[in-house]
Amino acid sequence: MKRIGLLTSGGDAPGMNAAIRAVVRTGLYFGMEVYGIRRGYTGLIDDDMVPMEMRSVSDIVQRGGTMLRTARCLELLTKEGQRKAVETLDRRGIEGLVVIGGDGSFRGARDLTEGWGVPTIGIPGTIDNDLEYTDYTLGFDTAVNTCLDLINKLRDTMTSHERISVVEVMGRRCGDIALYAGIASGAEIIVVPEIAFDIDDIVMRINRSRANGKHSNIIVVAEGVMSAEAFAKKLQEVTTYSVRPTTIGHVQRGGSPSMADRMLAAQFGNKAVRLLNEGVGNRVVGIHKNEIIDMDIIEAVSMKKKFNYELYETLQMISY
Ligand code: ATP
Repeated sequence: MKRIGLLTSGGDAPGMNAAIRAVVRTGLYFGMEVYGIRRGYTGLIDDDMVPMEMRSVSDIVQRGGTMLRTARCLELLTKEGQRKAVETLDRRGIEGLVVIGGDGSFRGARDLTEGWGVPTIGIPGTIDNDLEYTDYTLGFDTAVNTCLDLINKLRDTMTSHERISVVEVMGRRCGDIALYAGIASGAEIIVVPEIAFDIDDIVMRINRSRANGKHSNIIVVAEGVMSAEAFAKKLQEVTTYSVRPTTIGHVQRGGSPSMADRMLAAQFGNKAVRLLNEGVGNRVVGIHKNEIIDMDIIEAVSMKKKFNYELYETLQMISY
């Protein structure tokens, strides 16, 4: 393959820039031309792209966000949109496409592969960690660390006032950010979309922790369940302790990527281009049991994310 394209799509995630760098540098290493497509599939449809050089990706490994910008593109869901995207690739002589994004972005890549024969490689870039085939997605580690930093600060003030803090983190359908942030911050309770919650049980656990000498409580709620505001209101109706809601919000998406995310970015980006260089397309890259893996894109998008109940029980056994 002599010319490849690269885009970032869907929600941005820390480490996307580091992955862009790895893709570009690996492509140049193999003597390929690499085109950076701006604003995800929208830029592909509109033919908005630039050739990437060695120095185009200097000084970005440490930056959050994505230098190529990202977008959600409804037009790609239509056959007409897909036809325009493929026309751009043909006109430009681009033989393979690297897509950095989440579940939805992979479905777009799958459509281009299945319907139009475009060799695509997906790199899992999303803070949600909602893809079953890979143990971790790019950006998840940094997002959880951002949550931890803020929850640590909340704990200080909640303990001083002996309050209950309800902290809303991102995750519409997947509770992994809440699960990992909850365990790592020592939160007493997490509320995730995968498990129905019982407010009386939560009150019982709060009361038990106070009887055991605790002076504050942290409850981490995934946004897919309800807002911190709504949850705090519900809880305040059934407890005499003072409850305060906090929504962490979009700061979770920003910031300099952690070491773990930069390592993933380097390895995912490198692997993606190695595959294209070998003439292999229609794959996604990931990490499983500490090894970089690749898998058929159609199979990967059809897998349903499983919740880690053992980790959930771990939290219940160690935080009370
Ligand atoms: P995140 O997990 O961070 O939200 P994502 O990649 O899942 O990232 P989406 O908004 O779901 O984000 O998808 C990004 C883009 O991928 C969409 O705007 C659309 O262009 C394309 N896409 C999404 N779903 C599909 C689908 N079912 N079929 C084809 N293309 C899709």
